[in-house]
Amino acid sequence: MVLEELVLASANKGKLKELRHVLEPHHMKVHSQRDFKIAPVAETGLTFVENALLKAREAARVSRLPALGDDSGLVVEALKGQPGIYSARFAGENASDRENNELLLEKLTGVVDERRSASFFCCLVLLRHHRDPAPIIATGTWYGTILEAPRGKGGFGYDPLFFDPQLGATAAELSMVEKSQISHRGKALKVLIEALKA
Ligand code: IMP
Repeated sequence: MVLEELVLASANKGKLKELRHVLEPHHMKVHSQRDFKIAPVAETGLTFVENALLKAREAARVSRLPALGDDSGLVVEALKGQPGIYSARFAGENASDRENNELLLEKLTGVVDERRSASFFCCLVLLRHHRDPAPIIATGTWYGTILEAPRGKGGFGYDPLFFDPQLGATAAELSMVEKSQISHRGKALKVLIEALKA
């Protein structure tokens, strides 16, 4: 399927940057939902896939363009999967990245290194139009651990606390090129691009 443009169903600037970085070399123009004045939808689902679908459907309905929903977050083993789908609003409805990171560290106080495993999960849902009955769904996971203090200045969200032991770096210490090669979003995008080519 040839897709020349789509709307990203998110107001998150970090996601927009990363998605553009990967999709634009494939000649796909990625619009922000702000360009169409699309209001954020209520994320009433209980899973990433449900919420990604809700976001994509609304963006496709309003823009009349194909829309890509990205619902993603951090899944921490010692917190039984929290913050999960609530990652953006962990410390409250309009919480900043800093507040969310602080709450995460607080909840993990006293948890030893071996029990600080976590993963980033990303679910991408592409709807060709708002009543598309057969969306393309692509997911990606990135395994790591949660540090006791932030490291690095890049990325967004929980990146400064998320440590990849194989790379010996936090997500915030990677360039966008490096992060896109191994991240949950980068992996999901590879699956999506393959599905579009098929
Ligand atoms: P969503 O916009 O409802 O999907 O929430 C996404 C939230 O998950 C973000 O606000 C971040 O807190 C977190 N998140 C998702 N992907 C990343 C990432 O690549 N790095 C850091 N945090 C992320």
